[in-house]
This record gives sequence, C-alpha cells and structure tokens, in this order.
Amino acid sequence: MIKIVGAKLADGRVIDLDIDNQVIVKIENSARNLSNGAVDGSSKLLIPGLVDMHTHLREPGREDSETVLTGSRAAVAGGFTAVSTMANTNPVADNAGVVEQIYRLGKEAGLVDVNPIGAVTNGLNGEKLSEMGAMADSIAKVRIFSDDGKCVSDPLIMRRALEYVKTFNGIIAQHAQEPRLTVNAQMNEGSVSARIGLPGWPAIAEEAIIARDILLAEHVQSRLHICHVTTAGGVELIRWAKQRGIQVTAEVTPHHLLLTDDLVENYDPIYKVNPPLRTQKDVMALREGLAEGIIDIVATDHAPHPSEDKDCEFHAGAFGMVGLETALSVVVKTMVETGLMSWPDLIDRMSIAPAKIAGYATQGREIEVGMPANFILINPDQRWTVDKNKLKSKSKNTPFNGLELPVVVTDVFHNGEHVMKNGEILNMKAGSNGR
Ligand SMILES: [Zn+2]
Repeated sequence: MIKIVGAKLADGRVIDLDIDNQVIVKIENSARNLSNGAVDGSSKLLIPGLVDMHTHLREPGREDSETVLTGSRAAVAGGFTAVSTMANTNPVADNAGVVEQIYRLGKEAGLVDVNPIGAVTNGLNGEKLSEMGAMADSIAKVRIFSDDGKCVSDPLIMRRALEYVKTFNGIIAQHAQEPRLTVNAQMNEGSVSARIGLPGWPAIAEEAIIARDILLAEHVQSRLHICHVTTAGGVELIRWAKQRGIQVTAEVTPHHLLLTDDLVENYDPIYKVNPPLRTQKDVMALREGLAEGIIDIVATDHAPHPSEDKDCEFHAGAFGMVGLETALSVVVKTMVETGLMSWPDLIDRMSIAPAKIAGYATQGREIEVGMPANFILINPDQRWTVDKNKLKSKSKNTPFNGLELPVVVTDVFHNGEHVMKNGEILNMKAGSNGR
C-alpha cells in the first residue's frame, strides 16, 4: 500500500490517494496529515502518466544509441508510463519474434509499458506486407503498424495495409514523405534552404501523402494515423478529413512546436531532423491545430543517435533528436504558458488521447478509484535547465541543451509501483528475469 498526501489534481482538488495492488483504492479531500512512509504531494500536481505513441529505442541492433532499458529510464524521467517503439530496428520488427523480444525487454526493464509497433512491410522495403496478423496475435498484441523512418509510398500497398488491420482493429501510422520529392533533401525547402544552399524538402512532399492516405482511409473505411505533422497545409488537410468523418488521427512533436528552420543556418546537425523543422507560420498552425484537437496528440519521435553520427558535417549527420525527457516541459512552454491550452487539454493530448488511439486500456485513465495506478507527480512551478550530460538517454542529441524550461517531473508510479521518487529512478532491474 502506498499513500500520497496533499497532491493537487488538474481540476484543483487537493487530495490524499491510496494505491493497493496496482490500483487506486481511495481518493479523498486531503487531511494534510503526512503519516510515516507517505509520499508528500504538497505543491505537486498529480496527473495521468504520459503515453508516447512514437519512440525509437534502437534495440535490437543499435544498442550504442539506446537500449530498451536506457530508453525506459529516459521515458520515466520524462514522466511517461507507456511508450510505443518504432519498428526500424535491426533486425526490423516485422515478425512476431522481434516484437516479442522487444516486449520482453520492456517487461525486464520494468519501468514503463513498452509496446512494440510492427512494420507494415517486410524489412521496411515498401514492397510486401509483413506478418501483421502474427504480430497482432503475439504476446506483444501489436495494434499499431508503421514503416516510420520510411513512407509507405506505394498506394496499393498502403491500401492493402489499411484493409488488413481492420480485422483486428489495428491502425496504420504513416510517415508522410513522398520519396521522389525528397531525394537528398536535408532541410525545409524555403528561403533559408535557398540562402544557405542545402537541398530542400518541400511541404508538399508531406501534404501529398497525407491527402492521398486520408482518401484511402475513407475509401476502405479504416484507421489512419499521421505521424509528426509539420506543415500548416497538413493541419488543413486533417481538419478537412475530420469534418468528413474520416477515421484519421495525427500527432505533432514537441520540437516542431518550438523550433524553426532558420536554426539550420549555422549548419549544426543537432537541428537535422526528419521531417525537417519548418517555418514560424507552420509552428503557429501546429500549435493551433493541437489546441483545437485537429492534431490529436503529442508524440516525441525520440530518436537517439551517438555523437559520431551527429557531430559531423550537416550532409553526413543522422536525422533525429532525443525527446522523451524534455517533451512535457516543451509542451508546457509552447502550449500552456502561451495560454493556448489548459492543463486538462495537455493531459488529454499527452496521455488520454494517445492511450485511446493505441488501445492501451490501463494507461491514460482519469484519476479515479478503481483505475490502474499509472500516474506522475510534477512540480509545475519549478524550472530546470537542460544539461545533455544529465539525460538518462544513452544519446545526448537534444536541441534544447542549455535551455531553461518549466515543470519538473518528480515521481512516477507505473502499475502501482513507485518507479521514480524525487527524481531518482528506483527500479533498476537491469537484466533481471522473472517479470
Ligand atoms: Zn518518422
């Protein structure tokens, strides 16, 4: 039994809360009586654990960048209680064996729910559908499928994938990037790319695929999720699709809510990311889209890379940024401190809505008696400065190094276990079995 005393909920109530057997068993107005062994929640906000539908943990294959264990630690530090891991590992997560391996590694780490995403096509080659049914039937119960990192660019393959996942209520998460329009592309196509002479990545390369796929989703009556939307035009297409009743959902990353393409001007590969940073006009449209719910969720696209893959010439640098440990703070900075979104809205976009889209029944639930104890304590009034060397992630490629950000995550409860206490990760079952 764990007791939390004096924590505030997003609706303003100050409560005491008891956890027993992984479940919230009691919530009452706080007596503010900090008994022995109780967790002091005073001056803290208690919110559902965050759920990230888009993260790269690199295991198997690139354990020098991240492992399921180090990525789980980064997730906990960022306030997440569940992550969905993208399939572009080596070997690719395109069969039941690999997704079960990742799922087991997540259980062994024992810090957050690790839910593998399955590849849409074998080896992410875009040509032949993977064994989606076998992955859905596996112990990992895969429901999200994506070739992320690559676009499912063949419209016939995309159609078949959308049709196939309907049999088990799955969803296809598309990395919308028309490959023919982005050959050798390095950054957003616009005035900055023209000035500094880097090959551009036009907004239409993203929008053309979004438009095509929402029409395909409508045609076959299936569920489509658009990964990391970055353009104002993309938001408009999704708005149109939702007005038509098409089953489309979409995500935006924290970095696309804050950063713009002029940062690339000094050729620093830390700002090299796929899809690329866009313009201020796009940033504003993404923020409005998220506030309105046209964009349903925030997802990190946490993409760890070791320094040898990032500290090099811009052309040679890898695409991607780490994001798990800064996501909540960047969303508070861009959406809550700007007055665009309330805390309950943020909880929806970062916990409730992603859990619903992904079908994670024990995650993203309201703080109520009888609900599984997956929640976090945060200090909303405390600020911190990002120090890349203090990140729990094995990779340090954050674009926010040195930036002061709002909100500190202090405690994380995962399935009723206190896995982070006062900023310290408690559960260190590295390599242990039996979970
Ligand atoms: Zn992607």
